Amino acid sequence: MTPAPPPSRPAPRPARAKPAGHHDGAATRPLRLAIPNKGRLSDDSVDLLRRAGITLQGSSDRRLFATALDGRLQVLFVRARDIPAYVAAGTVDCGMTGLDVVKESGAKVRDLLDLRFGKCRLVLAVPDGDAASGPRDIPDGARVATTYPNLTKAYFAKARRKVRIVGVSGACEVAPMLGVADAITDLASSGSTLAMNHLREVHTILHSTCRLIAPARTDAAVQDELDRLRFALGSVLAARGKRYLLADVPRKALAEIQTFLPGVAGPTVVEIAGHKDLVAIQVVVDEADVYDAVSRLKALGGRGILVMPIDRMVA
Ligand code: AMP
Repeated sequence: MTPAPPPSRPAPRPARAKPAGHHDGAATRPLRLAIPNKGRLSDDSVDLLRRAGITLQGSSDRRLFATALDGRLQVLFVRARDIPAYVAAGTVDCGMTGLDVVKESGAKVRDLLDLRFGKCRLVLAVPDGDAASGPRDIPDGARVATTYPNLTKAYFAKARRKVRIVGVSGACEVAPMLGVADAITDLASSGSTLAMNHLREVHTILHSTCRLIAPARTDAAVQDELDRLRFALGSVLAARGKRYLLADVPRKALAEIQTFLPGVAGPTVVEIAGHKDLVAIQVVVDEADVYDAVSRLKALGGRGILVMPIDRMVA
């Protein structure tokens, strides 16, 4: 089933006294968040919410609508490309979608947080044999196939080139082979799709990741809830690439341990009952440093060493 189209005007707002998601026990309307219903950004969006403690309920197929946080959050599943317009119109209070589609839409929204997944770039690509090394090498009148007509127009206008945009709705990498375009602008991550289609990446137009976006203006109560959501998601991102390390170490080794395990605010040191010469330390370390840290702790007499994942980090 396809999602019902959003109302053309913003849904009526509740009175200020009953703000979105306010949790003082009063009946309020929930904060509305739009996330992609399918495609590359969909699973990562749901996963990020789950890690932030937001478990979705009421949507077994996750295709239309779900609630979370005891009804204080409503999640709408819509097409990634439609999210900027829904957010700008106030149909939802916030959304998660790619910077590429936000820029292409031209929607007036605020970029609240880089969610760091959905990494890709919008690139200019030409057939393998073409010697072009930048937009200025694409001659006036050349045909450029793209699913990003607005960004592409602006890109060539900046390069002072008058190209003809061939708007396609997908798979534009085949356009040069079909003879309908001389160049393309398309999303790439590894570049393998371009290579497979005998295309060469010439220039990057835009680097993109998934973003948390909100309307240009929101009232203070909704903003409060948005800040809470941004904070929760940010704490998950802060914990990425970090590990929690616990160990029992000789008290006399503490000074040296502090030189290579500084942690967020120095390691936490805890007494161990019945052991005068041993203390327990707890410290957050970068994943990349775990290997060396464990080896050095062991060499200094450390034991009971545990390395654990961290879900969220609130500094
Ligand atoms: P969908 O077309 O629904 O899969 O969503 C595509 C969105 O995923 C794009 O708008 C980008 O923000 C993001 N994305 C990340 N990597 C890629 C890639 N290699 N190709 C296409 N889209 C990507």
